[in-house]
Amino acid sequence: MLDLPAQLTVDYTKCTGCRICELACSAKKEGLFNPALARLKIVRYDDLGMDIPNVCGPCDEAPCVDICPVYAMRRDPLSRMTYLDEDKCILCKSCAGVCVNGVIKLDTSRMRIIKCDHCGGDPECAKACPTGAIQYGSISQSTIRGRHGKMIHYLKEIERTALAEQTDGEK
Ligand code: SF4
Ligand code: SF4
Ligand code: SF4
Repeated sequence: MLDLPAQLTVDYTKCTGCRICELACSAKKEGLFNPALARLKIVRYDDLGMDIPNVCGPCDEAPCVDICPVYAMRRDPLSRMTYLDEDKCILCKSCAGVCVNGVIKLDTSRMRIIKCDHCGGDPECAKACPTGAIQYGSISQSTIRGRHGKMIHYLKEIERTALAEQTDGEK
């Protein structure tokens, strides 16, 4: 199996939910400690006691690129990373709506779309993560699929537990 060019990869089993990565990202990109301006997002699942870092890529498809009506979003064919050209963006917000990881955001304070650019190959989030839950490097597509598979298993378990509780409550 061929390795992909460097990607942000996540081992959610190592994530403690400290959210230092969000602060590191916003500090690097905005000069502010404001998680709302981070280009990644930690999602907490209280039912499972899990925190899952959501980062940009690597996506099999790139819906953000496909949906952009003005070609402001493009995908590098080698790295498969997607990039935003702010000058072309008309703020339709379609890319934010279709991002499967929820990491393309509308910054309402400055009315602009913000997204990860892998910090030009030197990701601050990966450097700041104290547990190694976020890494940057080459990884095989099969490893990524394996991790996604485990995550989907956990999310289905949340749904199953919630449905069982709902059914019990209705008895
Ligand atoms: S810094 Fe690392 S451990 Fe902390 S929330 Fe982010 S990914 Fe998880
Ligand atoms: S918000 Fe901008 S980048 Fe996103 S789809 Fe619309 S025009 Fe394209
Ligand atoms: S690679 Fe850079 S821009 Fe992307 S989430 Fe990490 S710190 Fe933010």
